[in-house]
Amino acid sequence: MPAVFIGHGNPMNAVEDTPYSRGWRQVSNSLPRPSAILSASAHWYVPGSRVTGSERPRTIHDFGGFPRRLYEVQYPAPGSPQLAERVRALIGPSTVALDQDWGLDHGTWAVLVHMYPEAAIPVVQLAIDESLPAQEHFALAARLRPLRDEGVLILGSGNLVHNLHAYAWGSHAAETYDWAIRFENRMRELLTARSFATVADYESLGRDAALAAPTPDHFLPLLYVIAQAEENDTVSFPVDGFDGGSVSMTSVRIG
Ligand code: ZN
Repeated sequence: MPAVFIGHGNPMNAVEDTPYSRGWRQVSNSLPRPSAILSASAHWYVPGSRVTGSERPRTIHDFGGFPRRLYEVQYPAPGSPQLAERVRALIGPSTVALDQDWGLDHGTWAVLVHMYPEAAIPVVQLAIDESLPAQEHFALAARLRPLRDEGVLILGSGNLVHNLHAYAWGSHAAETYDWAIRFENRMRELLTARSFATVADYESLGRDAALAAPTPDHFLPLLYVIAQAEENDTVSFPVDGFDGGSVSMTSVRIG
């Protein structure tokens, strides 16, 4: 099973027909059908490592100020306590707590409503532990590699470039900032060259990195995907583009 990072961007993509939501559908159409989905979402960025253990994860509307129809979206996919336990066994049961409270946040469902609209495939979320440095996320994620052979789709949902201070709300045609383009191009070069350790060390890449990822939450899900790469896997970018001048909508596929 390939592993996929999706640039989710504005939550309105969940309910709108956009080049991105269409692109996400094409990504899922090109994959084998997953036995389950393990999602590392930018929007579950918390102290400590956790995995959702619920049989019926709730749809979380973790945003404010959007139209009512976005709050009415439900993504009633089942959970998978079995996959949650498998994740704990692979990473270390003493490291990863089983969480019965969190469900599916919009980093996960805004993408999956397009990729798997029937909501029939079990979904488990893995928290992004805010206390870990980027390199440790990469190392931790690499322990999940056996899941690919078990048909589990490892999904990272964030954005390669995500600066909401610079984001042009309501003006999607805004010109993209030069630092955003430079950082994205640098990431594409590094990913294509499989320089994953340098990607994980992105914070050392200077001012462009500081502007492109002013907080780590939307960048770190990428590391959960690239950590799955085996020697012969190809790296591709099935969806791309910028939104609002400062959010990259690029997706990255491993395998
Ligand atoms: Zn987001």
